[in-house]
Amino acid sequence: MPDRKTALVISAHAADFVWRCGGAIALHQKQGYEVTVVCLSYGERGESANLWKEPGMSLEKVKTARRSEAERAAEALNVHDIQFMDLGDYPLHVDAEAKDRLVDTLRRVRPEFMLSHSKYDPYNTDHMYATQIAMEVRMIAQAWGHKPGEQVLGAPQLYLFEPHQTEQMDWVPNVFLDITEVWENKRAAIECMEGQHHLWAYYTNVAENRANHFRRNSGGQAGGRPAKYAEGFQAIYPRCVDRL
Ligand SMILES: [Zn+2]
Repeated sequence: MPDRKTALVISAHAADFVWRCGGAIALHQKQGYEVTVVCLSYGERGESANLWKEPGMSLEKVKTARRSEAERAAEALNVHDIQFMDLGDYPLHVDAEAKDRLVDTLRRVRPEFMLSHSKYDPYNTDHMYATQIAMEVRMIAQAWGHKPGEQVLGAPQLYLFEPHQTEQMDWVPNVFLDITEVWENKRAAIECMEGQHHLWAYYTNVAENRANHFRRNSGGQAGGRPAKYAEGFQAIYPRCVDRL
């Protein structure tokens, strides 16, 4: 399938992909990409405070609720495939077997680009750990000596999506994506996150602010594109081009 265009999101917890790259997912799906989302954990312990405040809550009940929220959000974004690895959170732990499964996923999906968290996150080490894992499995999937005979991975770009409390994360965006045409999808996905009501307005705001950066960097008042909503990313690997 040479024309198949694919992308892979590695999300530490079940909701991260929604706030941070929901627009990128919906936009690429609209453009004919097949976007796969892998949630390493449900975020059942660290990012489910409101659920834990309900009486009679248990770890299994929280996981079930988080999974169904994430599935509904994925539907709103038209995600091609969403997978839950249930590796635990606070702390997340990816053992050798789980890494192997991720490498298999990477080789099967063969993404044109990948998305994951910021490299540094002193508030949530699961996030920066997920990025370390993303880089590690990308490296292993490229190795000819790993499961010799299989087709090795090329060199997908890794885009780091915007973290919470941006300025503390050593995260500097160098790519802005106009998500105006799929904003309704992203907002619908955000509204699936019942347990994190306090973030709905915040991430709408982030998208509006990044749209300002998009307008400025696409030409500003000399003719920038009138984006209303955007997402910022930090690309890790160099681009190889024929002209600048
Ligand atoms: Zn998270």
